[in-house]
Amino acid sequence: MSIAIADHVRDIPRSGIRDFFEVVQTMGDVISLGIGEPDFATPWHIREAAIYSLEKGRTGYSSNLGLPRLRRSISDYVQSHFGVRYEPLSEVLVSVGVSEAIDIALRALLNPGDEVVYHEPCYVSYAPSIVLARGVARAVATRSEDHFVLRAADLEKVITPRTKVLMLNFPTNPTGATMPPEELEKIAALCVKHNLVVMTDEIYSELTYDAVAHPSIAALPGMRERTVLLHGVSKAFAMTGWRIGFACAPQELIEAMMKIHQYAILCAPIMSQEAAIEALDRGEESMLKMRREYDLRRNYIVRGLNDIGLECFKPHGAFYVFPKITGTGLSSRDFSLRLLREKKVAVVPGSAFGPSGEGHVRCSYATALDQIKIAVDRIGELCQELAVNGTSAAA
Ligand code: PLP
Repeated sequence: MSIAIADHVRDIPRSGIRDFFEVVQTMGDVISLGIGEPDFATPWHIREAAIYSLEKGRTGYSSNLGLPRLRRSISDYVQSHFGVRYEPLSEVLVSVGVSEAIDIALRALLNPGDEVVYHEPCYVSYAPSIVLARGVARAVATRSEDHFVLRAADLEKVITPRTKVLMLNFPTNPTGATMPPEELEKIAALCVKHNLVVMTDEIYSELTYDAVAHPSIAALPGMRERTVLLHGVSKAFAMTGWRIGFACAPQELIEAMMKIHQYAILCAPIMSQEAAIEALDRGEESMLKMRREYDLRRNYIVRGLNDIGLECFKPHGAFYVFPKITGTGLSSRDFSLRLLREKKVAVVPGSAFGPSGEGHVRCSYATALDQIKIAVDRIGELCQELAVNGTSAAA
């Protein structure tokens, strides 16, 4: 018997990143610039808080919305980092990573056929999550020569009467892009004009460099009431495996998201919630230490890639660079496959992040500097064989 899978699920392609890393796993001795997670273990004081809570026997369910104590920490953290206040008991929901928060926010908001606009290249889950929520995904391409900023003028061109939601992610995975505050203000004005709800994925918001400020759209005038702020501890605190994210939004939306969350998930794991309290309350120093290390690596990789002829702007956020590989004459997939097979370096083809990512590859610098140095040398060897000219372009 063949099982008939729902059409909209069957038609969704598997993640391009997963497919690629299945090839990587069959090979030994590969330097990976492919993974989108910190190479650091979770700071010890955070692990210890979870261990201590286990020792005390805190092993049950929590409230569906999450531990009240954690929701208070989230509310304080969001207020101090983004300047927006959310009521801990009614406007905050603790989720299983930002991943779950994206899913339940879309499912809570969309009726079949509602359109969701997002900037591309973007995180691999956005378009599939929209489709799974029965929405229609509408991408706005951003450009490398514009450092992948989302321009209000480009956004307005794709807005239709069916557009309900705008998804933002700055700093961006996979480009590291950040938004100039004046452009963010124009985007906010468009959202008010077209009555859009904004989902802002702030997962890389702590990881900004060069003293660049990262304002959240939620903090701009008139935006709190129409925004769901999504954030979590995975990236800034090196806690990907703990699976803790959160959503802050007006009560009616949190209430709707909670209904899906309580039936599908019940609650996020309690020991991870205990660890998240420690991260948000006392994790700043640990985060800053990791960020200083990312910054050194960023400086190295941007210069190294430009020197070997892969044009790469210097992003101000996240832990990715997104060099252009069009000079090699190869597609992003072919370049990545050759780099993997011939030089044993893994990067992610830009096409995995949507059609506008073609012509680029994503290199993560959440990898030790000595490994990055070897990887850049090996990428240089491949580029030499492909006769790419080094430009030493100032980044
Ligand atoms: N959003 C973005 C932009 C990401 O890059 C990622 C992970 O790579 C996620 C969300 C998922 O985060 P979490 O581990 O909190 O589910």
